[in-house]
Amino acid sequence: MSLLEVEHLAVAYGAIAAVRDVSLKVEEGELVAMIGANGAGKTTTLACLSGLIRPRHGRGSFAGRDLFRMHPSQVVGAGLVQVPEGREVFARMTVAENLALGSWHRRDHRAVKHETAELLERFPILGRRQGQPAGLLSGGEQQILAIARGLLAAPRLMMLDEPSLGLAPQLVDEVFAIVTSLRAGGRTILLVEQNALRALRAADRAYVIAEGATTLGGSGRELLADSGVRTAYLGL
Ligand code: ATP
Repeated sequence: MSLLEVEHLAVAYGAIAAVRDVSLKVEEGELVAMIGANGAGKTTTLACLSGLIRPRHGRGSFAGRDLFRMHPSQVVGAGLVQVPEGREVFARMTVAENLALGSWHRRDHRAVKHETAELLERFPILGRRQGQPAGLLSGGEQQILAIARGLLAAPRLMMLDEPSLGLAPQLVDEVFAIVTSLRAGGRTILLVEQNALRALRAADRAYVIAEGATTLGGSGRELLADSGVRTAYLGL
């Protein structure tokens, strides 16, 4: 059984069918990308996996547990952790306080302290500005903070929603370098991205989501070579 399995997911907001038929799998240690246009249903899929919305149909399991019966706090506790679109850091709280929020559910306080120190060293910008309000950080710095906060939740699988959205090209490079290094360090990642080229280059496998449904799946390399993907998502 895969770490994460989703079969025939359907989600509606009232009469609006946001997701009609999404299926995907993520194995331990993989970086899997979900690409698709604006409004294709990617964020809704993640919200459902996080337990924030209930699906209309479909099955989902994480580490063998029935995902769609779990409360959001249980989902995080099980190790399925979302880094939301738009970073959503708490602007008036300090960088250190934002980081601490990532580990609210953990009892292994020593490990949390150790991991926090490691992250402040790994991302010096956070170390230097840990006492400042997070709202003073640039967009790219806030994204790094959001990823670090997610890492402190002790994820078995981290879901990143559009981490490069709205960032200057240099920062996009930096965010992708971080994502790639997390994968190289053995992390399991589900990456939602509109930057399809970068996402497919980084990913072990990927899915295309169009109009609420999974329309294609394969290795990053296969999808990069697919003529439909090249025309619709890579502008080639
Ligand atoms: P984006 O990259 O723009 O976030 P997406 O692929 O993540 O796009 P979703 O945000 O999941 O797409 O949206 C899927 C569909 O559901 C869209 O048609 C959107 O307008 C609709 N939708 C999303 N959230 C809501 C909501 N709270 N109420 C009603 N409709 C919604």
